[in-house]
Amino acid sequence: MGIYKNTPEVEVRERRLHSTLFYNGDAQDLIDRSNRKELVCKRGYYGQCSDCSEGCAETQTLFIRDAAVVGHAPIGCSGGSSTQNIMARNVSVSRNGVLHSVKYISTNIQEKDTVYGAAEKLRGAILEADRRFSPKAIFIESSCASGIIGEDLESIASVTSDELGYPVIPVYCEGFKSRLWSTGFDSAYHALLRLVEPAREKKKDVVNVFGFNGSDTFSPLLSKLGLKTNYVAPLASVDDIKHISEAACNTQVCKTLSTYITAVMEEEYGVPEVNAPSPFGISWTDEWLREIAKLTGKEEIVEDVIESEHKRIAPEIERLKKLIAGKRVYVISGDSFCHNLGNILKDFDVKLIGFNALHHDAHPDKEGQKNTLEDLVRDNGNIQNVTVCNKQPYQLVKIIKRLNPDLVIVRHGQVSNAATRLGIPIIFEGDANYSCGYDGAVRMGKRIYEAIRTKKLVENISKHVEFPYTDWWMDEVEDPFVFEGK
Ligand code: SF4
Repeated sequence: MGIYKNTPEVEVRERRLHSTLFYNGDAQDLIDRSNRKELVCKRGYYGQCSDCSEGCAETQTLFIRDAAVVGHAPIGCSGGSSTQNIMARNVSVSRNGVLHSVKYISTNIQEKDTVYGAAEKLRGAILEADRRFSPKAIFIESSCASGIIGEDLESIASVTSDELGYPVIPVYCEGFKSRLWSTGFDSAYHALLRLVEPAREKKKDVVNVFGFNGSDTFSPLLSKLGLKTNYVAPLASVDDIKHISEAACNTQVCKTLSTYITAVMEEEYGVPEVNAPSPFGISWTDEWLREIAKLTGKEEIVEDVIESEHKRIAPEIERLKKLIAGKRVYVISGDSFCHNLGNILKDFDVKLIGFNALHHDAHPDKEGQKNTLEDLVRDNGNIQNVTVCNKQPYQLVKIIKRLNPDLVIVRHGQVSNAATRLGIPIIFEGDANYSCGYDGAVRMGKRIYEAIRTKKLVENISKHVEFPYTDWWMDEVEDPFVFEGK
């Protein structure tokens, strides 16, 4: 059976990928239990905070340059859009100097709309988005409220698309439908796939890079093989997305983000996925370049490129190693991105003492697709202290306190202060592209050195802050997952 189904919605991750939200053990055991399909996605006993599929969908839709987004939702669901706007403006300027601001309208669903319907409101918001932004496409994002009342987004999209003369596409990202907010990535990509057209020509030197809104670190790397980088979807145009089927191959910043679209692009359009882990750490960057070279006819030059890159960065790697080797680092991030960040550490003989993934996908979308947890164990040995917890500070604070690392690398701002409050320095990995490639590895080494030098400052901070937890929770309870599955 094919991966892509020509239906409005993509199946949620807990059914498609048998993803889980809770785990406590080690990396090899997690791999074994995933392979035996033993993991289940239990509902948490207590959730201190959460993200939602809608926010994950917006990491793609809000950053398409000439598209607008209509959130068919109560206004509270758009709470993250201003932060997304700050990111859009920062990254767009740093990437190519052309400022991008998000183009977003909320229908602001009210209680009475959930009784009498909100179709007219949605239609009005779509027309208002057209008037304000003159977009080339509009994405309608659903929400819990519009999902519960069963709003017929397909009909409204179809009628307004005919009127406006360009695509109006629903993105089904209701928060309540999936316990895994990463399902929102798949929802956004499923919607983007409705834009994609068959290739007019094949461009042998173009590589699609599926990723987040991040700085341009892939172009310098791929240009060494004479290849062009096509970032999808953040900061691409609607027209760029229509023609992604013309690229030579697809790669990604994070397998968790793009497992679905890369599998579908191969199945539906014959664009092969780069079968290597993402280029984080020297060994994975080598592997990634070799695989891309195979798919783009650059095999003759790739070994020279790798050799000269190794030579170029070797003095800096050695210098940094002397400063940071032996440090104990803990990583908190999304599933596959944990593995990316963890794999850089061995370049400096820094010890990965454990990591917490925000969820775990038991298997990929397509058989044979890379499993970065297996790659991490292959290259680094088994990793102890592996947990899966969806960003709950009350649990993470206990885990970090027990492990007492020299440094925490954390991808999500909401949990970074847990470490700081414990007097442990952090690196906040907000820009997902920043540490990729050979230069990214060097940057990470420098940042580890800079971060551990903040130890005295964060220890001072920790003396002046209190956690809102009882001594019973902090000191007496052994298992941070004691409530789960009960
Ligand atoms: S869609 Fe649902 S879960 Fe997501 S922000 Fe809105 S109400 Fe919350």
